[in-house]
Amino acid sequence: MVLDSPGTPLRAAELPAPEPGPGQVLVAVDACGVCRTDLHVVDGELPDSKLPLVPGHQVVGRVLEPGARLAAGDRVGIPWLGWTCGECRYCLSGRENLCDRARFTGYQLDGGYAELVKADERFCFPVPEKYDDLEAAPLLCAGLIGYRSLRLAGDPERLGLYGFGASAHIVAQVARHEGRRVFAFTRAGDAETQAFARSLGVEWAGDASQSPPEELDAAIIFAPVGELVPAALAAVAKGGSVVCAGIHMSDIPSFPYEFLWGERVVRSVANLTRRDGEELLALAPRVPIRTEVEAFPLEQANEALGRLRSGGVLGAAVLAVRA
Ligand SMILES: [Zn+2]
Ligand SMILES: [Zn+2]
Repeated sequence: MVLDSPGTPLRAAELPAPEPGPGQVLVAVDACGVCRTDLHVVDGELPDSKLPLVPGHQVVGRVLEPGARLAAGDRVGIPWLGWTCGECRYCLSGRENLCDRARFTGYQLDGGYAELVKADERFCFPVPEKYDDLEAAPLLCAGLIGYRSLRLAGDPERLGLYGFGASAHIVAQVARHEGRRVFAFTRAGDAETQAFARSLGVEWAGDASQSPPEELDAAIIFAPVGELVPAALAAVAKGGSVVCAGIHMSDIPSFPYEFLWGERVVRSVANLTRRDGEELLALAPRVPIRTEVEAFPLEQANEALGRLRSGGVLGAAVLAVRA
C-alpha cells in the first residue's frame, strides 16, 4: 500500500521486490501495526517523508534473505528506528533516538504495509514467542514509545494517561505490574474505552475534560491535542512530570506560569533506542502484557487508518499481511 502524496488515500500497488544491501535483510511481512504516526505521515502533518512511500513501522515477519546476524526463517520485529549514524554526539552518548541523521521506517524508509520489506539487521528485534504475529505488532511502537514515556515520567505512584489507545493500553499494564495507580482520560463520553481501561486495572477512567479524583504524580499525553498539556499540568502535583509521547501535536495554548511552578516538568519523548526495545520485549511476557488487537487485511489499510483517525479502534489496529 503506497502513499503517493500526503492527503491522498494509499494505493494498492505491485512494486518490485526490495533488494537488500550490505547489512540488510529481506523480510516477509506477517503483520504490521497501524500507528498514529502513520496517520500524521499520510495526512501530511510530518514533513519530508519519502515519496512514494510504503508506510508502517511495527512490522513482524520472517527473514527470507539472511544477513550476518540473522538467519533465514528468524522471526523479527522491525521498529520505527531504522538506521542511525553511530558517530554523532547523540549516538555516542546512548541517545541514538536523537541522532541527527536517523532514518525511520515507514517515513524515510519503506515500511511494512507490504508483503516484503528490507531492513538493517542491527535494528531488528527478536519477537517473544509468547505472542502471535498480530499480538506482537503493537509492541513495536505503541509498546516501545509507551515504555520510554513511562520511564521518562519518573517513578509516579499515581499516573495519568491522556488518550487511551494502542500505547496507553500497553503502558497501563506495565504500570500496574510495577504497582502504580493508573488514571485514564478519554474522548468525552467514550464509555466503551473507559470500561476497557478499567478492565486493564485502571482505577479511574473519565473524560479528558474532567479532573481526576486526586492529584497525579505524572501524566503521559498520547492524544495529539495541545490543550491537554495545561490540563495535565493542572492535574499533576508539585514536582510532577507531563510527558508528551506523540511525534506531532496541535499548538499548546498559553497558560499561567503557576501551572508549571512547583518544579513541574513538561517534556517530549522522541523515537526509541534499541535498548528500549530490548527492555520492553524482555519485560512483555513477564507482565504479561496482553495486546488487544483489531485486524484488517492489508488492502484495507485506508479503512484501518480511518478508524484510527475517528477514534474507533479499541486497543491497536494491525494489518494482517500473511494470507
Ligand atoms: Zn547519530
Ligand atoms: Zn509508531
